[in-house]
Amino acid sequence: MNYAVAAPAVQTLTVAGRDERYPVNRIFCVGRNYAAHAREMGKDPDRDPPFYFMKPAQAIVDAAQAVTIPYPPKTNNFHHEIELVVAIGRGGADIDVAKALDHVYGYAVGLDMTRRDLQLDARDKGRPWEFGKSFATSAPIGVIHRAEDIGHPGDAAITLTVNGEPRQSSDISKLLWSVAESIAVLSQYETLEPGDLIMTGTPEGVNSVVRGDVLRGTIQGLGEITVTVAS
Ligand code: MN
Repeated sequence: MNYAVAAPAVQTLTVAGRDERYPVNRIFCVGRNYAAHAREMGKDPDRDPPFYFMKPAQAIVDAAQAVTIPYPPKTNNFHHEIELVVAIGRGGADIDVAKALDHVYGYAVGLDMTRRDLQLDARDKGRPWEFGKSFATSAPIGVIHRAEDIGHPGDAAITLTVNGEPRQSSDISKLLWSVAESIAVLSQYETLEPGDLIMTGTPEGVNSVVRGDVLRGTIQGLGEITVTVAS
């Protein structure tokens, strides 16, 4: 194949215990999927249908090992959001909620890093969120654990510390829209494909980080990620 310009590299993630990598296609993110986080963002945690936004695959940072990300430009309020990440293994449209977990390849710990000032300014002006959410290195994601190996976690502690201090602590059982429901609804809007990731939303306690901070995120059964903000 002759490309007119350099073709973008395929972004990939590490798979636990396997000598193969997971190629990332699209990244879908669920908004306000924990009640306490919806409240801290000034919104009611009603059970309106879930809503989604996207990040480009180039936002991926493989955080299988400790990694450093830059402090991004054009923000003074760079926030952490620790999240359960679902990796789709089998595509489909109009997926039945009862069959939705059959489409999951595996699970990982991830961070939806956010330029909160840009996001809220856009939100309040009725503009798109992209510059607050969809920028390079905004999605550090740890090792993917295959559902075939670990099953489908229904409850598991999810935590984030910054420089060892607790910031976020909840349980994935508190998701307003479960993994299966998030897949089923999303697949009504967009045909899912292998390689698609779903970041399922963050619990309460989001806050800012500064240059030099060390973030450590964990989900019980999925290990941890360590992400340093470059100084
Ligand atoms: Mn998020």
